[in-house]
Amino acid sequence: MLTALSHRGVILARGVNAHSCLSRVLHPPSACRSRRAMGSVSIPPPASLLRPLETPQRLLSGPGPSNVPPRVLAAAARQIIGHMHGEMLEIMDDIKKGIQYAFQTQNNMTLAMSGPGHVAMECAIFNTVESGESVLVAVNGIWGERAAEIAERIGARVNTIVKPPGGYFTKEEIEQALVEHKPVIFFLTHGESSSGVVHPLDGIGDLCHSHNCLFLLDAVASLGGSPILMDKQGIDILYTGSQKVLNSPPGTAPISFSERACKKMFHRKTKPLSYFLDMGWLANYWGCDGKPTRTYHHTGPISGFFTLRESLAILAEMGLENSWNRHKEVAEHLHKGLESMGFKLFVQEKHVRLPTVTTITVPPGYDWREITVYAMKHHNVEISGGLGPSSGMVLRVGLMGYNSNKANADKVLEALREALKHCHKSKV
Ligand SMILES: *Cc1c(COP(=O)(O)O)cnc(C)c1O
Repeated sequence: MLTALSHRGVILARGVNAHSCLSRVLHPPSACRSRRAMGSVSIPPPASLLRPLETPQRLLSGPGPSNVPPRVLAAAARQIIGHMHGEMLEIMDDIKKGIQYAFQTQNNMTLAMSGPGHVAMECAIFNTVESGESVLVAVNGIWGERAAEIAERIGARVNTIVKPPGGYFTKEEIEQALVEHKPVIFFLTHGESSSGVVHPLDGIGDLCHSHNCLFLLDAVASLGGSPILMDKQGIDILYTGSQKVLNSPPGTAPISFSERACKKMFHRKTKPLSYFLDMGWLANYWGCDGKPTRTYHHTGPISGFFTLRESLAILAEMGLENSWNRHKEVAEHLHKGLESMGFKLFVQEKHVRLPTVTTITVPPGYDWREITVYAMKHHNVEISGGLGPSSGMVLRVGLMGYNSNKANADKVLEALREALKHCHKSKV
């Protein structure tokens, strides 16, 4: 009897609960406000936050971010630990080894930035360049433009060599600019995701060194999907982002500095302008400075480091060469499909087509925006327009890491086939 009653009590209590929940849904802010001290807050809780979080399922086949595989999502769902706990420092050591593998480098000064690719970009330039020094930037899309602006903001003397989107630089052109401008650093984009070009690397490192210049390479859109050998190719500073080929959520950015780069950045006359990006501090946080103790600098994105570790583990298990080959095969499958439908690839020369991000010439008579909207609305497939100098000229398709397979390429092709049928075409 007692059990039955208390059981009923529970049911009753639940009923009451259910009722109050219902009333909160029906009259959200006022119901809550009336029970609290009146007048202490004048801004009500936002109604949208009282509804559950909703996110759609999409194929992220633009230039990034790309979809995150279940194993990496599971890492993000783990309870966090302290940013200086021993276990966390071990995970950071794993990340460091994973980056050394992915970059093919033995550099001790290898770590992950707390932030997106732009943070690595600013870290590289802020630490190695001082105000008044000469910088050379190769611009063949938006990333060179941004690097030039970042260097300008710290008072560097910025010189550029420029190609239209889709173009790349010969060694002769680079050497001529090195001779003319005597830069302390040369910035080049490896995978130009706004133009779809992968820049040939051979000989550029040696060329820079023979002119007493550091070689800085942006590999945010290409690392893991296209061959890069940091040590062998004489790259002094290399960085990437977590959300492209590595398939982690955005928010961490692997970076590495050669001995030569360390010598320059740790013997500067002035402190780097940014405290947050000061490699003196970051080297200590990541245990790269040989000191026995690590001191608090900032709180790293702990869940982001969990996911980055898993992404690097997946790459290590698969093997870099297998990953490079898979991206090449899938890109060729996509390119063949696009050409058979009458699309023109934006980058003419096959050997400089970026395997991770494909640029397609906007088909004559079509509005690129209408195509991207159609693919998203009817197929849940992301296709991007151009960016910076390539805007209005191209459509961009990214198939990176976990997303790089023929089934996904076929989904993109299907979405584009339907888009051509249904989007408005004007006479040209
Ligand atoms: C995406 C991208 C970046 C910027 O990365 P964020 O994480 O968005 O800051 C830099 N360079 C290249 C080549 C990229 O494709």
